[in-house]
Amino acid sequence: MADKAYLCTPKKTVKLQVFSEISALRSFLAPLRSPSRPIGLVPTMGALHAGHLALIAQSKQHNPLTVASIFVNPTQFNNAADLEKYPRMPEADTAMLQAAGCDVLFCPSVAEMYPVPSALTMDFGNLNRILEGEFRPGHFSGVGLVVAKLFNIVQPARAYFGQKDFQQLMVIRQLVSELCIPVEVMAVPTLREPDGLAMSSRNLRLTPAERAKAPVFYETLQYAQAAIKTKKPWSEIRQEAAMKVAATGFRLEYLALATQPNFQLTENVTDSQPKVLLIAGYAGNVRLIDNLIIE
Ligand code: AMP
Repeated sequence: MADKAYLCTPKKTVKLQVFSEISALRSFLAPLRSPSRPIGLVPTMGALHAGHLALIAQSKQHNPLTVASIFVNPTQFNNAADLEKYPRMPEADTAMLQAAGCDVLFCPSVAEMYPVPSALTMDFGNLNRILEGEFRPGHFSGVGLVVAKLFNIVQPARAYFGQKDFQQLMVIRQLVSELCIPVEVMAVPTLREPDGLAMSSRNLRLTPAERAKAPVFYETLQYAQAAIKTKKPWSEIRQEAAMKVAATGFRLEYLALATQPNFQLTENVTDSQPKVLLIAGYAGNVRLIDNLIIE
């Protein structure tokens, strides 16, 4: 629930300002930024859907000026084919942002963001070594790098991230905390399709047959949550989950249970510590992730 102190009065829709150069964006934002006029930033990789628009809507509620960025960041792709096939639809994205009342779009080229290949890498410790960190080597280093750049370019008071990428949210929180970046990280709940599939730009790459079966990842999370409540041993839950996913012809990469808020993997289904279930798998060639905070 939004803190009332953040709420902004609705304003007339203005034309979306689009920038592809860092210097032009900085010059535009400098006179508009002040403690009483905070900027909200929504970093994205485009191919926008209602999940992204939920982030924009939150930012608009809290801040008089919202900047969305669209940048398919090569340094966070550990798989060249995934980078190449990532959906790109700039015209449709621009129209969606305009209709959503976003104020500014920053859509830089790769050369603008990385004029020289970046030598800097970031290691987030435990987060780098488990789950997404383990299965996508280098991914969080690239995420940390590009988000740090975006924070320095836009200098937002708040930045909005989806719980859909739960581990990424932990990475951003660690980045902000360890580097003392004066940005408030805001988490937005996952938006889902009516059949439960978490909205994702990657869903566009699913064939109709794959799309029909894709809710299995969310169903498996729900099954695991219910099984945890009966205190079924984690090894059995894990095995049954793998069979559920395999029955669709998809491949389960991991189903994991992590403690909150310190994000340690656990198999303990009996203690009362808050936890989150996380899943990743392949629907054909398309890698999907999802998670469920255990209630
Ligand atoms: P992406 O364009 O996939 O990098 O996502 C940009 C931002 O939108 C990230 O903070 C994501 O976590 C968030 N996001 C993506 N999908 C969803 C969703 N279904 N619900 C809420 N937020 C989402």
